[in-house]
Amino acid sequence: MGFKVAIIGRPNVGKSTLFNRLVGKKLALVDDTPGVTRDRRVHAAKLYDLYFDVIDTAGFEDAAASTLPGRMRQQTEIAIREADLIFFTVDAKSGLMPDDRTFAEIVRKSGKPVVLVANKAEARGAQGGMLEAWELGLGEPIPVSAEHGQGMPDLRDAVIEALGEERAFGEDEEESDEIAASEVLIGEDIADPDAEATYDDTKPLRIAVVGRPNAGKSTLINALIGEERLLTGPEAGITRDSISVDWDWRGRRIKLFDTAGMRRKSRIHEKLEVMSVQDGLRAVRFAEIVVIVLDATIPFEKQDLQIADLIIREGRAPVIAFNKWDLIDNPQELLAELREKTERLLPQVRGIQAVTVSAETGRGLEKLMDSVIKTHKVWNSRVSTGKLNRWLEGILAHHPPPAVAGRRLKIKYVTQAKTRPPGFVVSCSRPDAMPQSYVRYLTNSLREAFDMPGVPIRMALRTSD
Ligand code: GDP
Ligand code: GDP
Repeated sequence: MGFKVAIIGRPNVGKSTLFNRLVGKKLALVDDTPGVTRDRRVHAAKLYDLYFDVIDTAGFEDAAASTLPGRMRQQTEIAIREADLIFFTVDAKSGLMPDDRTFAEIVRKSGKPVVLVANKAEARGAQGGMLEAWELGLGEPIPVSAEHGQGMPDLRDAVIEALGEERAFGEDEEESDEIAASEVLIGEDIADPDAEATYDDTKPLRIAVVGRPNAGKSTLINALIGEERLLTGPEAGITRDSISVDWDWRGRRIKLFDTAGMRRKSRIHEKLEVMSVQDGLRAVRFAEIVVIVLDATIPFEKQDLQIADLIIREGRAPVIAFNKWDLIDNPQELLAELREKTERLLPQVRGIQAVTVSAETGRGLEKLMDSVIKTHKVWNSRVSTGKLNRWLEGILAHHPPPAVAGRRLKIKYVTQAKTRPPGFVVSCSRPDAMPQSYVRYLTNSLREAFDMPGVPIRMALRTSD
């Protein structure tokens, strides 16, 4: 049952504030004066549907010393040893300090799963600190504001990614070691340039279905999983955080998350709910793949594009279902037109899967689910550092970065820092001077070279020295 989290980081990054946020009570003493000695305690914490213990490490520090004093180091090591997961916390507002690297080194050496928390992300100028945090080599920084409670859904997802679903939810103790070991291996991609993760199709694939009212979401969901199942699902409106339905598609486990369509079905007498962008947000964050249902007779209204944009910004992979295809008289022509429009309106996910369906007749549902699974694989894909740098050699030979102020920008190497969605770190001479157009060129070329259609691709630039 449960797992233990240690919040580690140098003084003043916001560990106590995060601790309080997770524990939900004003337990740890938050103080602007670093170095206030407090006891180490363990408290029950909750992050949506995750339940765990947090070790309060707030008393470990002594900011008066610029080097890490022996006692603090020892205490930190004890906390790390006790923990199953580390929240390595940095201050995105102030950027990295030497102590961040010292602590990060201890954490890395422990080999424990880590979530890199970039706190104070709401602050002006936090973007720079976010990018810097990549340099710690602890994976993707998760932007949060412990003080304002922002970024918590992403933190939840990051925990699940770091621990594996079984361990995060405490379902299967036996598998936990295996999962932790594979996570460590993924983290060592740089040391082992030819490591490539294999796709795990045993975990439930998390889907959300979104779209404007009347696009056919409820009909589609019912066609996929069957009416009875939906009606016996958890009562909507009570715990909006965790509405989900589990089912199987051709032996593949699927978890379908809370959508406006599901809610309306279980509150039949309520007035027609307007699907706002905000409304879909929660479902989108919990999902891996988001099916955007469009009414093919009135496709691509402004709201559809807002939803698509939100999904992409959240790093989820969209799949488009052009619904009500049974009503279309000129399918060939319309399909060509819709394909062209999709590529033009959503260039950030070039090659997006878009299928025609009829939720009413059930036509196209096989193809839709195939597309979902295919996209999920791409979203999980990993390219080895070796392959990336062979690709980079070709790029540098034929389309090198431009010169800025008479000096050619240099790219040293590229590594994939994360999956879900694929995220790459480009190590270059002057990140600030690299034109956006060239970053776009790199992204598109990467997408093509490694066959990653339809998913958002993240690129972070960092200095190579
Ligand atoms: P600790 O020393 O790492 O435990 O840090 P604290 O939790 O005591 O926080 C240090 C300071 O940062 C306090 O003044 C907090 O109010 C502030 N702080 C914590 N979280 C945030 C945040 O998300 N945003 C901003 N702007 N300030 C924060
Ligand atoms: P939601 O608001 O997105 O959940 O939409 P519903 O599933 O409630 O569907 C809205 C209306 O469109 C209903 O009258 C459905 O019967 C109809 N509808 C849904 N899917 C299809 C379809 O594939 N073909 C046709 N002709 N009508 C559909």
